[in-house]
Amino acid sequence: MGGKREEPLIVKGKRVDGRKVDEMRPIKIEAGVLNRADGSCYLEWGKNKIIAAVYGPRELHPKHLQDNTQAYLRCRYNMAPFSVSDRKRPGPDRRSTEISKVISEALQRVVFLNYFPNSVVDVFMEVLQADAGTRCASLTAASVALADAGVPMKDLVASCAAGKADGEIVLDMMQEEDNFGEGDLPMGYIPARDEIVLMQLDGEFTKEEFEKAQKTAIDGCKKVYELQMKALKDKFKKGGKE
Ligand code: ADP
Repeated sequence: MGGKREEPLIVKGKRVDGRKVDEMRPIKIEAGVLNRADGSCYLEWGKNKIIAAVYGPRELHPKHLQDNTQAYLRCRYNMAPFSVSDRKRPGPDRRSTEISKVISEALQRVVFLNYFPNSVVDVFMEVLQADAGTRCASLTAASVALADAGVPMKDLVASCAAGKADGEIVLDMMQEEDNFGEGDLPMGYIPARDEIVLMQLDGEFTKEEFEKAQKTAIDGCKKVYELQMKALKDKFKKGGKE
């Protein structure tokens, strides 16, 4: 973020990839793509490609980690070594630990964890290809995978980011904009409850810019939510896993 670029990011209202400022990248969501997970989702969001898989609820081991009042929602966000332009060193790092944590906190707001004492629900998110916005894409996919697993939830969490490029608020930044833009505001949102469950901020925004970015991101989340619901309905119409 904040690097120097010779060409502007927005020319006559059009962005580097031809989108308008309030236009999202194309999104494709498919639920129930893995036979061995209890629930799963494959999601493409622009050039991002992500798989989410859910196991559980099942008994948590080792037992000393068990909580007799609720289940433990264990999330792991991981980037494949081949997912980014320079090979990513395999294994956890500060960034993936942070993303796993904020995604877990967002999902805890919707999953009825108190139904499953002494248990664990595992959520794995594997980024196969990354092009900015992977935490929003992973949270979106994880939500669908949880619902696909039949884990009781109040609602889905939908996620989308807004950002700032060439001083303008834009919806859903891709890599080029993330590299050379001035700010990023990823959000997680529960439309039915009008509740924000994830909000992070990178860069500097004036109060007006922040308010506009927040509204833009929430509008994006609402569109994402419709696609999540459609993916789940399509899966159950097909009658489940093949
Ligand atoms: P997000 O993916 O949620 O936007 P960041 O803002 O931290 O998260 O990262 C933006 C993008 O930068 C990622 O989507 C990815 O394409 C790229 N990126 C992140 N980490 C690395 C890395 N270790 N090496 C190369 N590119 C990376």
